[in-house]
Amino acid sequence: MKKNLTYILLFGFPLLWAQNKLTEHPAYEQNRIALENENKALAFDADIKLSDAENILDKKLFALRKELISETEKQKIPLYNRSFNELKPMIEGSRLFKLIQTMPKGGLLHTHSGGVTDMKWVISAARKYKECYVFDQQDTQEFIYGQLAFFENGKVPKGFTNLDKKLTANPQFEKELLDLLLLKRDNLCSYNDYWIEFEKRFTRINLLLPYRPFFKEYYLKGFRDLAKDKVQHVEIRYVFDELYDFQHGKYPVKTSVTDLQDIVKEMRKTDPNFSVKLIYSSFKFLDPEGVEKQLEMAFQLKKEFPDMISGFDLVADEAAGNSIYTFRKSWEKLNALSKKYGTDMPLFLHAGESNSVYNTNVLDLALLNNQRIGHGLNLIYFPKAMEAIRKQNKLVEISPISNQVLGYVSDFRNHPARVLLNNGVQGSINSDDPSVYGYEGLSYDFWVAFVYWELDVKALKKLVFNSIAYSSLNESEKAKAISNLTVQWDDFIQKANLQLR
Ligand SMILES: [Zn+2]
Repeated sequence: MKKNLTYILLFGFPLLWAQNKLTEHPAYEQNRIALENENKALAFDADIKLSDAENILDKKLFALRKELISETEKQKIPLYNRSFNELKPMIEGSRLFKLIQTMPKGGLLHTHSGGVTDMKWVISAARKYKECYVFDQQDTQEFIYGQLAFFENGKVPKGFTNLDKKLTANPQFEKELLDLLLLKRDNLCSYNDYWIEFEKRFTRINLLLPYRPFFKEYYLKGFRDLAKDKVQHVEIRYVFDELYDFQHGKYPVKTSVTDLQDIVKEMRKTDPNFSVKLIYSSFKFLDPEGVEKQLEMAFQLKKEFPDMISGFDLVADEAAGNSIYTFRKSWEKLNALSKKYGTDMPLFLHAGESNSVYNTNVLDLALLNNQRIGHGLNLIYFPKAMEAIRKQNKLVEISPISNQVLGYVSDFRNHPARVLLNNGVQGSINSDDPSVYGYEGLSYDFWVAFVYWELDVKALKKLVFNSIAYSSLNESEKAKAISNLTVQWDDFIQKANLQLR
């Protein structure tokens, strides 16, 4: 108003005149409304109709976000120029976060073996085993500083120290070790070779996880934390390894699957609807022959465990590994292999985890039987591939925090997923490797998406229900999961409305 007054004082009344002129032109107004509606109709959540109760919550959540943003402005918190690590305490202290924690999340469709379970817990659980050791010398060809492993008495390689003894003698080492297991983007402007550091985190625990007694504890803890955060279904990009213990030696690969089935049974005692699927994951840095062998192994395992193994993926840094096109001979053999093993093998490839137009992996995804896309960040630079993926009704698994920690996005407002969702590409919210980024559950990623992408209840609901609709659950499992989620969702809406008076 003040601005208008200055304008009027300076230039007379042409502004008011122009404004009146506009409303005299109904065609302009109608066209504008039509254009706005066309945009809304294209969006990924266009089919969601909200109930009265959902509409009420929508207004309350809008107000809650506004309150949060004006509070950060008052406190001069640079909300848009901060890393997740810097924001984390503020997120945890917010009313919005506590509310999102109570929201049912449906499924977590994108996470990795080794990236699921709280690292603080990993240290405390590992030290209870007297056969757990830590490498506390300078990196060698074989081991790196801070690497954890289990060894039998008398067979401990040089450079390893008993973990419990080390932590008892030097309590500060616990903090140091935790920092070695976590990847944090301390701030947005310091330089870090993220993927090198990221992979070191996995190296430090990759000798820990195949030890069968620890393996069982690790996944039970990870699943419990997810269920606590209202996640009912989990799909893990799973890198298969032979489990072992010292009494028996190595177990066949399938023991991981049967053990995980037992863990799910254990989970169901407290969370009767909890479910897990595994996506057989190999690596982009293998050569085509290596990937072909892995694909055969995936088929063998899926034939034996059709309810547990849901498909195939290739993981690791896209900038350093081979392109999806490199493995085209394997993809061409998929149909023949399906016939040979009597089972299909949907692909769940990571693609477009990149800011470069020279990474063209997303093109392959528009051509392959690839139901869900891991990340798809650079898909926005290939509009025709994006259109194809929308028409084929494929889903992009979005992991906002992971994308910031690994340096693909700085200001969360500029995350490519906003472009994808507004263009009608389906998506779901995921955490990728939360344990490495120092958090558990899915609430943090939903908080980030809700605050920075200006989502409403309609969008939240679609993202949550997508995570079951696009899951690898079979038709009857899916119907059960959807009806269970619907009950939980309605309950959440009712309780959230009461809470936010
Ligand atoms: Zn991933």
